[in-house]
Amino acid sequence: MKQILTLLIGFLVLFSCENSKKPDTDTSNGTVEIKNINENFGIVIHGGAGTILKKNMSDSLEYAYKTKLKEAITTGHTILKKGGTALEAVTATINIMEDSPLFNSGKGAVFTHEETNELDASIMDGATLNAGAVAGVTRIKNPINLALSVMNDSPHVLLSGKGAENFAKEQGFEWVDPSYFYTEKRYKSLQRIKEKNKTKLDKENKVSFKDVYFKDYKFGTVGCVALDKNGNLAAGTSTGGMTNKRWNRIGDSPIIGAGTYANNATCAVSSTGWGEYFIRAMVAYDISAMMEYKGVSLKEAAREVIQIKVPALGGDGGIIAIDKEGNITMEFNTAGMYRAYMNAEGKLIIGIYKEVDRKP
Ligand code: ASP
Repeated sequence: MKQILTLLIGFLVLFSCENSKKPDTDTSNGTVEIKNINENFGIVIHGGAGTILKKNMSDSLEYAYKTKLKEAITTGHTILKKGGTALEAVTATINIMEDSPLFNSGKGAVFTHEETNELDASIMDGATLNAGAVAGVTRIKNPINLALSVMNDSPHVLLSGKGAENFAKEQGFEWVDPSYFYTEKRYKSLQRIKEKNKTKLDKENKVSFKDVYFKDYKFGTVGCVALDKNGNLAAGTSTGGMTNKRWNRIGDSPIIGAGTYANNATCAVSSTGWGEYFIRAMVAYDISAMMEYKGVSLKEAAREVIQIKVPALGGDGGIIAIDKEGNITMEFNTAGMYRAYMNAEGKLIIGIYKEVDRKP
């Protein structure tokens, strides 16, 4: 009888302890905290920076850009809202822009001097600091997907040219015919640049390196950065590079730290601009490093790099970035940058010129 009584008391004590633990678990242990984290997600995109002036833009083209930016960012936002990862959102968002002839990536890639299209892309996971990139690929419809595969399925970070394409085949990617990347608009841009350079050469009998390759070039690279509900950051960038490029020139877009960088401890950044300068200034990593080592805000870091450091070297362009708290910045030193962001509440901001235009 005594034994039964002891057992009964023991059971009652255990039961009451369990019960008294419950409110602790439900309230303080995080339901509330997790909910706050869950609400804090966001996504930012760019479609290139450069001499983008309202006076040179028709209403219909402006509408086309805004519609595509909206479609791209909404795709990524929906993924994040449903609990998808930042990497998934970045990839799917960039795919929409790669498939559009409006941007200098995938379908709308610019032409090289030899009238081919060579594409570069990179992606980085802020949670693990893993990264993948490809450079100079000519047969891959969505280079950002191949960059992701380099990260996930190979021991490497950056693959280039034929080797990258062979790796793609082994991973089950389809090769497209290089003619897939032909667009009349980009082809004509190349011819215009070549023609201009000819005139210059004729008149002056010499031409500066800057003039030959890059003068009046309007950038059109695409990029995306995202913060997901689990607090993970990711960044990705995809481009055709610069019109009239030669000698298998590679810009900043596939260079981790220059064109793309993500670190859960700081921020995720995607760049667009004159690649040579962005490589030398290590733009994306420099923004993250300033936050990490100097403790400055994302906005301050981005402003210093884009408005002071890059122009001091002679370069131009811009970045989009998001930090671990969901703060965003879209900084550029050119006349315009195609850009958009969406926060957790689904508020959409789209911009093209210096001033932000809210109408989608
Ligand atoms: N950054 C790219 C490059 O230099 C060009 C761009 O952003 O449009 O290849």
